[in-house]
Amino acid sequence: MEKEDIIGRLNELRASSRELDIPEAERTALMDQVAAFANTFINGLDNVKGFRTKAIGDLSIQGYKIPLQELLTRYRAEVAETGINAASPKHLGYIPGGGVFTAALADLLAAVTNPFASVHFASPGAATIENEVIAWLRSVFGFPDDAVGCLSSGGSISTLIAFTAARDKHKVKNERIPKSVVYLSEQVHHSTQKALRIIGLEDAILRYIPLDAEHRIIPAELDRAIEQDRSDGLHPFLVVASAGTTDTGTVDPIDAIADVAAKHGLWYHVDAAYGGFFILTSKKNLFKGIERADSLIIDPHKGLFLPYGVGAVLIKDSAAVLHSHYYTANYMQDGHNEELLKSPANLSPELTKHFRGLRVWLPLQLHGIAPFKACLEEKLLLVQYFRMKLGTLGFHTGPEPDLSVSYFWYPFASRADDLNKRLMEEIHKDGAVFLSSSVINGRFVIRMAILAFRTKKETIDEAVEMIQRCLDRVVQATGDAA
Ligand SMILES: *Cc1c(COP(=O)(O)O)cnc(C)c1O
Repeated sequence: MEKEDIIGRLNELRASSRELDIPEAERTALMDQVAAFANTFINGLDNVKGFRTKAIGDLSIQGYKIPLQELLTRYRAEVAETGINAASPKHLGYIPGGGVFTAALADLLAAVTNPFASVHFASPGAATIENEVIAWLRSVFGFPDDAVGCLSSGGSISTLIAFTAARDKHKVKNERIPKSVVYLSEQVHHSTQKALRIIGLEDAILRYIPLDAEHRIIPAELDRAIEQDRSDGLHPFLVVASAGTTDTGTVDPIDAIADVAAKHGLWYHVDAAYGGFFILTSKKNLFKGIERADSLIIDPHKGLFLPYGVGAVLIKDSAAVLHSHYYTANYMQDGHNEELLKSPANLSPELTKHFRGLRVWLPLQLHGIAPFKACLEEKLLLVQYFRMKLGTLGFHTGPEPDLSVSYFWYPFASRADDLNKRLMEEIHKDGAVFLSSSVINGRFVIRMAILAFRTKKETIDEAVEMIQRCLDRVVQATGDAA
């Protein structure tokens, strides 16, 4: 093309291309519409159902302009008001959190300013915020200052990063893999097994350690299993404990397991994705010894009630992390490491990424830590309250949980599993409050997971009313009672 042609074509394109850079008046109008939507949505949260089923309408991309108001209307109908209402107080299934509003403001700021948070040179301020969040987590869990860490999208990716470091530290590769042993509880979150498979350890041996009546790993059994495997010529390398299991809210004996892992020189990983932040509450003692872990994962999108999309991992052995994630050699030289460790990219599989540090940093700075602690303490009491009320209705409940997840079932005279499943279906059909189910000790049970920051006593009262209503329906339909 000639120079004049290029200039002419550029002028033609300008009108259309600049539409992406909207003027202030339009920005304000759009933000006002989103703000109005957000306020209506949040104001209505007490009056919506926890779970709605609906066939989803057309959300395909049209390629032409559609006004925001129309898109918000569609978003409300097809997204905000369908499925589990995870922002509402009534999400008591899986592991809820809620989504603190001020984190949404942080996401807006992060997106508007768009700093490159992965590389210290590119955005020293954003990288520093990410690192300050990690520093705060180190202090919460008593990890030493030279432990490294990064923010991830959630517990699954955090586990991947931690296990990769453990694998590389213990040189688990090639013909050594089928002789390498991982020790775990049958109550670990499935992201544990999934991470092992993803990082090439599918053929490693998974040794499930017997649990006590409260679903906790028995440290003496762990010790015995490791001794046995050693004498059989195997290569024990990794122990996984949970500080809050997903199904039963159990905290394994963290300190006693640390003793066993240390005695045998194994990598000690603690999955605190769900339960970790309860270390800030009256349950602190349960977490004794957590600072002895080699790696720890923790999900701010659970126990800090932030919107989905932020997990964290702390790892003591920075060399092992760099081995997996730093892309050239020479990284073993100490002085060098310090500079490297300021850039999240060297500690994580991600390079260009969402600046997720801000959505942790801003809410903690704006609110201070006290309301987060109060919310966690409140959840511990709510689960007790829920269990008591279910008990008076004739339900059986699992053992008293360490944290805020528990389970229950109705002692139907016969076909108990079938009828509890039926009860679960009725509860999902009703939808007032969302609960999920599991199988524990071979029994079909209904879980309560109380962690959403908006969940209050009234929510539990409503849940109990709903459960009674659904139980009546099952009993009526089947003529089966306790
Ligand atoms: C939720 C959870 C995970 C997985 O974390 P994601 O953030 O969902 O990827 C791992 N472990 C436990 C105990 C969990 O509760």
